[in-house]
Amino acid sequence: MSLHRISGQQHHENPSPVELNPVFVRPGEASALPRMRIPHDESLPETAYQIVHDEAMLDGNARLNLATFVGTWMEDDANRLYLEAADKNMIDKDEYPRTAEIENRCVTMLADLWHAPDPEHTAGTSTIGSSEACMLAGLALKRRWSHARRAAGKPTDRPNLVMSSAVQVCWEKFCNYWEVEMRQVPVSMEHKVLDGHDLADYVDENTIGVVAIMGVTYTGMYEPVARIAEALDRIQAETGLDVRIHVDGASGAMIAPFIQPDLEWDFRIERVVSINTSGHKYGLVYPGLGWIVWRTAECLPEDLVFRVSYLGGDMPTFALNFSRPGAQVLLQYYLFMRLGFAGYRRVQQTCSDVATHLATEIGAVPAFELWNDGSDIPVFAWRMREGHTENWDLHHLGDRLRMKGWLVPAYPMPADLEDLTVQRVVVRNGFSRDLADAFLADLREEVDFLDSLDAPMPRTGHSKAFHH
Ligand SMILES: *Cc1c(COP(=O)(O)O)cnc(C)c1O
Repeated sequence: MSLHRISGQQHHENPSPVELNPVFVRPGEASALPRMRIPHDESLPETAYQIVHDEAMLDGNARLNLATFVGTWMEDDANRLYLEAADKNMIDKDEYPRTAEIENRCVTMLADLWHAPDPEHTAGTSTIGSSEACMLAGLALKRRWSHARRAAGKPTDRPNLVMSSAVQVCWEKFCNYWEVEMRQVPVSMEHKVLDGHDLADYVDENTIGVVAIMGVTYTGMYEPVARIAEALDRIQAETGLDVRIHVDGASGAMIAPFIQPDLEWDFRIERVVSINTSGHKYGLVYPGLGWIVWRTAECLPEDLVFRVSYLGGDMPTFALNFSRPGAQVLLQYYLFMRLGFAGYRRVQQTCSDVATHLATEIGAVPAFELWNDGSDIPVFAWRMREGHTENWDLHHLGDRLRMKGWLVPAYPMPADLEDLTVQRVVVRNGFSRDLADAFLADLREEVDFLDSLDAPMPRTGHSKAFHH
């Protein structure tokens, strides 16, 4: 059984062979290739290229995809570098020592950006994305906790991790795969994010840590890391429990340092032991790159670290994968060199300006009520104004926008707000003011159309929106 079947997606696969356009078929080549079996014979490279190229062309247009956080554009020099480095395996530290060195520099730069006390003596690594980085963060918390428990002669069989109910799915995976009880604090109208309220009801001696999200995936809001830390300070004063924070900064850790430099969310807060980000989100690199940094080398338990051969000696590694592309690491370094702090600030501020502009305009549409205004990360969500209409909902609007090429997901909020549906826009580099205004014009037109209906739209057949 292949994974796409496990995932339960409905595939209406065409059983017929892939017909080749006669223009591309060379003498002696088959004119049709099987769709679900490896073809018996070879094809010419141009023929194979055309087949894959033509099919991949049917994927959506990335620039109109307002659902994804992930980078879809890099400039030509970066593209050239990407091609040149496509053969580099990140694990081959001995064969590619410069790439390994550049990875280290990037970790140190991020540690510095996030105010680690001694950036050159942290532990950290690149990963395939934030999901892997979060697994590593969770494993380090769990191991640190079990060492302390064993040292105190206490059992280690019931670890739990405290987080908001609006966490990204990777945290549910972590808890599932590594058998850690997931303790979710529900979001509510009063507490739109995890803000430290009632934390004492969730934290106990088996708590391995608390996850704070900088840039909640559902809405783009920051969780107030400083307030969560203060709540944990109070818990420690009352109970002696010393519970540390991991910050999931998949998107926000590459936004806040540049456009909200005074906001304290990072290693400036003592209780924060580790931070992850996605190089391929607001780090502006193509898909396949995440980062994790621990406050100090001591925060990463030594017994989780493996050693690979490196220049006659050995080099510590902590990863779930063995082989993995090295090119993205070079692309991240390219961008650090190319943009510098000022360049990143300009890119992120531009996204932020577009997001707050869009949010203001969408908030002014009578049908809608903003959930947040796009001023944390350049992401915001809105809901239907209560009592506006019974004739249509945000799913209908999403379908109408899709007809114009825009992908703008509508989805239910997590527990305990699952009856509430929101629609979200993610503003990324390249979503210009011009494009935003074109989007607004289409949105207003579709809202006018839906508002002009004198009977309800059918409720069935909504496509299930993907919003992670
Ligand atoms: C996107 C995201 C993740 C997962 O990141 P990947 O890089 O896609 O693996 C984790 N947490 C948050 C808050 C996210 O937004």
